Amino acid sequence: MQDAIWSRTLLPATRDALLASDPLPTTADVVVVGAGLVGLCAALSLRRRGVDKVVVMDRRSVCGESTGASAGGLWPGHECLTLASPDIARNARDLHAALREEFACDYVGCGVLRLMDEGEASRGLARVERTRKAGFAAELLTGGDLAACEPLLRHAGAAIRFPGDGSIHPLKLAAGIAEWLRGNGVKICLNAEVLGIAPAPIAVTTSAGRMAAGSIVVAAGAWTPLLTKMLGWRPPIRPIRGTLLATDKQPAGTLRSIVIGQRYYYWQLACGPLAGGGSEEDVGFEAGSDGAVAADIRREWGSLFPSLRGLRFTSCWSGFRPFCEDMQPVIGRVPGCDGVYVSAGHFRKGILLAPLSGELLADQLLENRQWRSAKAFRPDRFPLAAQLCQ
Ligand SMILES: Cc1cc2nc3c(=O)[nH]c(=O)nc-3n(C[C@H](O)[C@H](O)[C@H](O)COP(=O)(O)OP(=O)(O)OC[C@H]3O[C@@H](n4cnc5c(N)ncnc54)[C@H](O)[C@@H]3O)c2cc1C
Repeated sequence: MQDAIWSRTLLPATRDALLASDPLPTTADVVVVGAGLVGLCAALSLRRRGVDKVVVMDRRSVCGESTGASAGGLWPGHECLTLASPDIARNARDLHAALREEFACDYVGCGVLRLMDEGEASRGLARVERTRKAGFAAELLTGGDLAACEPLLRHAGAAIRFPGDGSIHPLKLAAGIAEWLRGNGVKICLNAEVLGIAPAPIAVTTSAGRMAAGSIVVAAGAWTPLLTKMLGWRPPIRPIRGTLLATDKQPAGTLRSIVIGQRYYYWQLACGPLAGGGSEEDVGFEAGSDGAVAADIRREWGSLFPSLRGLRFTSCWSGFRPFCEDMQPVIGRVPGCDGVYVSAGHFRKGILLAPLSGELLADQLLENRQWRSAKAFRPDRFPLAAQLCQ
């Protein structure tokens, strides 16, 4: 990942905390592989429920991959109809709200504006109704109401507004959680790449040494199948690269909402820069960004916000979203492997779903309990033939 706005907008001490590593212990009750937001939230839920020795390990830094490259968007209203159930969407929203009360993370509750073409208004009304039924606020805006809501936007059609949605600074949230974890005895071991997983007895071999563990949670984002294939199981998760651009600091209120256009989305960070993008590039683990994609983002930006067309985007970065082929995350016990769990495949919603995923994971690992509404996340939903090394 190159030059993401988030690490550049942290205080040096916070940035250093994301790079600070504990020495690797030789044993753990639970080892979490992956210090992205999904892994950190799994460790948080486990430690809070009394697991004594939790170790989080990562081959890089805390949130140095997809989480640190994300847009930090929390759009439960906008996404509630694409999640497994309205219950999942409401729990994701409520658990995030509780986390934000505890850990400062620059939350901006500005709402999402989903733009629609002219003539789509009747479909928009139906979506508003279904969203409200799911327990989220939504309204259809047209003409003068839309212009008043987002004065710099030039858009001839309608828009659905989801006023309860917003965005955070994902690294600030991660830094707060990491500090809590360390303060409560959790070891966060960085620059430790997991090279091997043995199932019985459970142990991980890493570039920094070997560790025996009671259980293991693989939360390695887009890299998850590369680890679980060592156990003969390979969920259909793969990387989809996303590119984002950002300007330098702009006056507060330049953008008032998160605006989702036909191809990309745009918002203003709490600390001032405007940002936008969110491409879906199927290029494997090819790092970097494509000039044509960046130009396409700038083109849409210029057509939606003509008066801002002259602004320079001074940052451009990309990250690998963990895409799962049925668009739902994979959370639970690895089929046929006692003590080995997975929490991965969150694709475009991992920031939103991380706290809920931590709770779901802890329920299964500690109490062998599965939420009825989270059945769609079961690892064993993939037929065995598709799981074996493709
Ligand atoms: C451009 C972009 C915009 C996005 N915007 C949003 C958004 O607005 N809202 C939202 O909810 N989601 C968004 N997402 C998606 C979100 O970022 C992801 O779903 C989420 O971050 C996944 O978290 P994770 O912890 O599973 O993965 P990651 O954050 O990728 O963490 C996985 C970790 O595993 C580590 N790892 C991998 N292999 C090994 C190994 N062998 N040994 C040790 N460690 C290993 C990696 O180093 C990494 O730190 C966006 C993503 C991108 C790229």
